Order: sequence, then C-alpha cells, then structure tokens
Amino acid sequence: MPEGPSVRKYHHLVSGFVGQQVIKTGGSSKMLSPASFQSLWLQDTQVHGKKLFLRFDPDEETRSHGNNALPEPLEGERMEEAGDQKQAVGSDSQKISDPSSRSPELAVPSGDDGLDCLGGDSPAGDAERWLEVRFGLFGSVWVNEFSRTKKANKKGDWRDPIPRLVLYFDSGGFLAFYNCQMSWSSSSVVKPNSDILSEKFHRGQALEALGQEQPVCYTLLDQRYFSGVGNIIKNEALYRAGIHPLSLGSLLSPLQLDVLVDHVVEFSADWLQGKLQGRQQHQQIYQKEQCPAGHRVMKEAFGPPGGFQRLTWWCPQCQPKVPPDKPEQGQLS
Ligand SMILES: [Zn+2]
Repeated sequence: MPEGPSVRKYHHLVSGFVGQQVIKTGGSSKMLSPASFQSLWLQDTQVHGKKLFLRFDPDEETRSHGNNALPEPLEGERMEEAGDQKQAVGSDSQKISDPSSRSPELAVPSGDDGLDCLGGDSPAGDAERWLEVRFGLFGSVWVNEFSRTKKANKKGDWRDPIPRLVLYFDSGGFLAFYNCQMSWSSSSVVKPNSDILSEKFHRGQALEALGQEQPVCYTLLDQRYFSGVGNIIKNEALYRAGIHPLSLGSLLSPLQLDVLVDHVVEFSADWLQGKLQGRQQHQQIYQKEQCPAGHRVMKEAFGPPGGFQRLTWWCPQCQPKVPPDKPEQGQLS
C-alpha cells in the first residue's frame, strides 16, 4: 500500500487538473460507475495520510472555496506539468517512468491547505461530493499515460493492468487510477492534525499516543495518530531513532519519543521530496540483511494481539529493547 509520501505525490499530480471538467470516462470500477463522473468538474483535491480526496461538482462554480486556492505561481506550474509532461508514479518500488519529467524546482504542496475550512461552510446537501480514494498494495495514479506491464505473467501473457477509473479532462489530459477502492464521502472525516506530512500535524497528540504502555511499533501504524505511516516509515524511523520495535512507549524517555517522532516526520518529508524530484528513497533497515553498521538484521512479524501482524526489521545491537528481555526461565519461576 502506498504510504503517505506516495499519496502526496498523487495528490500533487491530481492538483494539476483542479478546475477542469470531465469530458470522457473509463475504467473497470464496479463500485462506482465511471460514467457517473461525466461532465462533473474537479473542484478540489486533498490528501490525508494514505487517503486521497477529490471533490467533484456538477457546476463550474458552485461556491467559493475560501482560502483554499494555492498561490498563483505554483498553480501555473502544476497546470503546465499536468498538461505538457507525462508523469507517472508507480507503487513504492517503481521509479517515475519518465526521467525527463523531473522537476527539481517543484515545491512540496501543502496539500492540506484549507482542510480546516472544509465542512464548516458546506450546506447539508453538499455532502458526499468528495471521492475518497484508498490505494491497494499496487495502487497508483498515472497522468496522461497508462501503466504498462513490465513482465509477462505465468501463462506468458503481457497484460497491462486495468485502471479502476479513467477521467479525461477538457484540457486534453487524463488521470488513471489503479488498484484502489473509491467511495463518496463528506469532507468532515478529514482531520489533518494526525497527518505526519501536514503542517497541522499534532506532535503532542502523537507523543502522548507513543507513550502508551504498548510496543511503539504498534502505535506508529495507528492511523489515528500517525496517519500516512506505513511499514517502511515505521521500520526506518525506529532504526534511525535506535529504538527496538517492541519497546514499550511508557518505558522510553520523553527525549527518545521526541527523537522517534522527528525521524518519522523527517524520513517521510524526505521521501516525499525525493518522489517529487524523481529520486529513490534510501532505506537503511527495511528488507535489509545488514544494518549500515554491518550488524545482522532481525526480521519478525509484530502486531497487536488479534491485529494485523507486519514484518518488522531491526538491528538488535543498534536498537536495544526496553525493557531488556528476561532470561528464558524468568517467566516460569
Ligand atoms: Zn546495527
């Protein structure tokens, strides 16, 4: 599943189409009829954690979006990007397909602009105009081109992935959404203060959650406090902070928790920046056999009892456990 930085990149790509009308549709989605998007105007887009939101209106100008508008220069730049260049981003392991489309000057969009003003001024009938997109393992958004298969399947077929939804806009460009679930929602569900990549990220709330008497690797994946964090960010931030994944938050010092949150935010922001510049994010521990210091890396699935168990990589030397494990017999006596 794409983590926060990938979804921010998709948001950045979709932003270039805001203000345009859908003139043709396609895609295989059964949940939502692609044809129902015909003639709608894409009026806004937001990102929250791993979810992407697109607002559609039947009319070009239905209401003012308040201070939602982005500064003009960035707007122009994004339109140009979407209109003139092919850009595509695959899942986490893929590179941007066209290196010529790299735009090192691109500013990181503060994608949550105006989130707090959503909902408040919306009349009741205004609900359900936000398309909520949740990406699957190989979920992605492509701009002005379709995803092509890179290898044949077991039967030897070269079958390209089928987009769930394709939206063609009046500018001549199009967006293709792959491997995602989509549903209509009201904007009120959007809370930027748990989004690790939002300027409104609430550090105090995150620190308090981390300090609970439970392994920090569980809390980091809790989207209520760390929206946008996935398994890669979890592993990398814990390694960089020198904290064992199963350390109980309640036994870590305030400084350690602080450093951990710093690494979550820094790693995520750096990853996003890299995505916007076509640079691959360097991982130090995730899926590695050795840590950068040359120690052997451990790998095991960890998760709350009865919850989703996620493969976790850690270095027992660089990330000592708190509290240390008792000797084998300790629990029996
Ligand atoms: Zn190590």
